[in-house]
Formats: sequence, structure tokens, C-alpha cells
Amino acid sequence: MTNAYCQEEFFSRSQLDAVQRTRLTSIVQRAAQSPFYAEHLAQAGVDPLSIQSLDDLTRLPFTTKDDLRQAYPNRMLTRPVTDMVRLHASSGTTGSATVIYYTQNDLDCWADLVARCMHMVGMRADDTFQNMSGYGLFTGGLGIHYGAERLGCLTIPAGAGNSKRQLKLLEDFHVSAIHIIPSYALHLGTVIEQMGFSPDRLKVRIALIGAEPHTEAIRRRIEEVYGLKAYNSYGLSEMNGPGVAFECLEQNGMHVWEDAYLPEVVDPDTGQPVPDGEIGELVITTLCREGMPLIRYRTKDLTRFLPGACPCGRMHRRIDRIKGRADDMIIIKGVNIYPMQVEQALMTIPEVGQNYQIVLEREGYLDQMRVKVEIKNEFFVEDMRVLQALQSRISSRLRDEILISVRVDLVESNSLPNSEGKAQRVLDLRE
Ligand code: ADP
Ligand code: ZN
Repeated sequence: MTNAYCQEEFFSRSQLDAVQRTRLTSIVQRAAQSPFYAEHLAQAGVDPLSIQSLDDLTRLPFTTKDDLRQAYPNRMLTRPVTDMVRLHASSGTTGSATVIYYTQNDLDCWADLVARCMHMVGMRADDTFQNMSGYGLFTGGLGIHYGAERLGCLTIPAGAGNSKRQLKLLEDFHVSAIHIIPSYALHLGTVIEQMGFSPDRLKVRIALIGAEPHTEAIRRRIEEVYGLKAYNSYGLSEMNGPGVAFECLEQNGMHVWEDAYLPEVVDPDTGQPVPDGEIGELVITTLCREGMPLIRYRTKDLTRFLPGACPCGRMHRRIDRIKGRADDMIIIKGVNIYPMQVEQALMTIPEVGQNYQIVLEREGYLDQMRVKVEIKNEFFVEDMRVLQALQSRISSRLRDEILISVRVDLVESNSLPNSEGKAQRVLDLRE
């Protein structure tokens, strides 16, 4: 393919460094044209014209989700609202929603980046693509949609939910690539099983999965259920949406598109950069955004840079699978736990089905954690002894992983609430 966006994809490290330096210099000056950053930079004592090299990056102040809320609705715009052509909002998984504006140029750059991701994992113009994530304010809808059209795919805006119709579309139009949220992919797998629908009837070879944390085991399950290759897709509305970092065919870490996003990994407490390979909070500066640039944005997502070069030859640095959000952390009996650790432990047990839920309860003064686990149909037997043995096997596996005792409830397949959007893994019933 000869599209312009492929050129940056294969930039050498020195080309990437050079483009980052010039873009950082200009993005800081552009950001300073917004009322928010004029003030924010002045407060930090930073003259925008003094930012001349990548080493100057750490002199810049961070931008937080709270800053976005304070700047609501449009104090971060560098130009009049009339120059903007689109608005999206984060799904509000944590706290109130924040709003992002796009100029036409921003939308074009975004579509190019998403198309680049799709091309990287083998999608081509002759693919038929079904986008199974919600449309509307959620960026996984239109963001992915325009990327697929940019690549030239026949694009089906199926949206979320309505599993039977999803299957009909997949089958009737010989869909070859999909975008789907991992928890919904598993749910749809259960529906397929219950309907007695053979996945062999589908021609899907590629799934883009993302928008929520998931483990390697979940990716493998999705690949097995549908007989396809699934690639991890990372993005957030503050950074346009999907298309920030994406797995290549190696399926080992996600390349951050460094010509468009300048990534850092910092210690969440001190804000100091951590060495490559160590886990910290991902911080990103937009390098191309026109309408609403963001400087050193604290994503709250925990990950690490993967050391070393990727065998695929791309020099854009890779981040590891997201471990969770800094504010997802559960503290129970003094121990810090991330929901992904629970998933990791559960998925090592073959009898465990497609869904689980973590419930936090308070008994007297004590916090307790209960994990409700769906069991695959074939293992959900009448024999109490068998189930009790399974229950204690799951409990001890969990205790090994998270170091506290939890209560385990075994439930039938497809009985826990499933969402069409991002899964809500934790139900907190403590006051
Ligand atoms: P909200 O913050 O309200 O969920 P977004 O829709 O912008 O709004 O979601 C972005 C967030 O979703 C990211 O910050 C991250 O926590 C999560 N996310 C997105 N893609 C992935 C992924 N591939 N793996 C893990 N988490 C992801
Ligand atoms: Zn690679």
C-alpha cells in the first residue's frame, strides 16, 4: 500500500526523534493559545517558546482528568468552537464525562492512524468489516468506523448488542474483520453456543479487541471460539480514541504511534519517569492535535515500555497490555489488588466460563471480597461434592494470586450481568 500514513509507520528511530522534537515544539506553542494552557503553563513558569528539545518535556506540567473537567466545556480549545466539526465524550467509567473536540484535520489524522493499525494486522480494502461497538459519544464507534472506511473496507456500523442480528450480519455479508469489546466477544460466544450456531459458518479472520483491560488468556479464548486472530487495541477519548497503540502481527505489546503521540511511563506517586520495563502510569502528549492539544496527559492506565526492538521492524516503542487503571485498585484487608489479577487466576482454571464479577462487601468492620464465577455448562453438574471441590480449587488459586481469602460463588453460564459496552467487573456494596 502506498498511502502516506505508511511512511511514518516505518520511520527509523532518528526520524521519529526528529519528528517528535519539531512537533513537541509547535504543539506547546499551539496549546498556549487556549485559555486553559495559557494559564496552566504560566502557573508552572514555562515559557512555551523555551520548549526546544525532547529533554524539555519534563519541564512541562502534567494535565489531569480533573483539568479537563475544570476546562469544561471548551477552555482547552485553541480556536473558536466554530472551527470544530465533531465532539466526543469519554464513557465516564470513572466520574463525570469529559469532552473532546476535533477539527476536520484532527478527524483526518485520526482516521489515518486507525487505518494504519488495521493495515498493520493484515486488513485490506477488500475486507468486509463489522464494527460491533457502541456508536454515539463513545469513540470506539465512529473512530474505528472512519478508519475502516479510510482503508477502503466495506464497513458495517452494527453498533453494540442485539447478538442475533450481529450473527446474521456476520454470516450474510461474509464479514472478515470485526471490532468488538472483549467481554462482549465472550458473551456472544455463549450466545452462539446456546443457539447451537456453528462458528464455522463465519469467515472472520481478524478481530480488533480493546477498550477494556483483559488478560492474555481471554484473548486466546476469543481466538479459539471464533477461530481468528485477535489484536489488542488501545486508545482513550482524550487522545482521539482508538488508534493510540496497537499490536502488530507479533501479538507481543502494542506499538504507540510515536509520530502522533509522545508517551512516557511515570511513577504515579512522584510523577518521575520510571526505567523501561518497569510498570507505571502512561502519560501522553498529543503531537498533531489541532483543536485541543493535550500536554503530558495522565491516563491513569498502568503499563510499562517493553524493552528491546520488535521483530516486526517498527521502531515505535511498545507498551505492555494495560494492567488496569490506577483508580481501579481495590484495597482489601490492607492488600492492593487489581481486577486483572483475579481474571488472571480464574482463567487458569479450565472449568471457568466466560464471565465473572467481583463483589466487595462489609461485614461489621471487615471488608470482604466475593468472586462470582460462571462455570462452563459441561462442568455445572448436580453433584455437590464435585462443585465444592471446584470451589475450593478456585479459592486457593485466587489466594495464591492475590494473597487474601475470598469467597467464591459458582454460578451458571450466562447468569451474571453482561454489558454491551465496557464490563463492570467490580460491584462495591460497602458504604
Ligand atoms: P472512560 O475513561 O470513560 O472509560 P474512554 O472510552 O475514553 O472513556 O476509555 C479509555 C480507557 O479505556 C483507557 O484509558 C483505558 O483505561 C481503557 N482501555 C482502552 N483500551 C484498552 C485496552 N486495549 N486494554 C485495556 N484498557 C483499555
Ligand atoms: Zn511489532
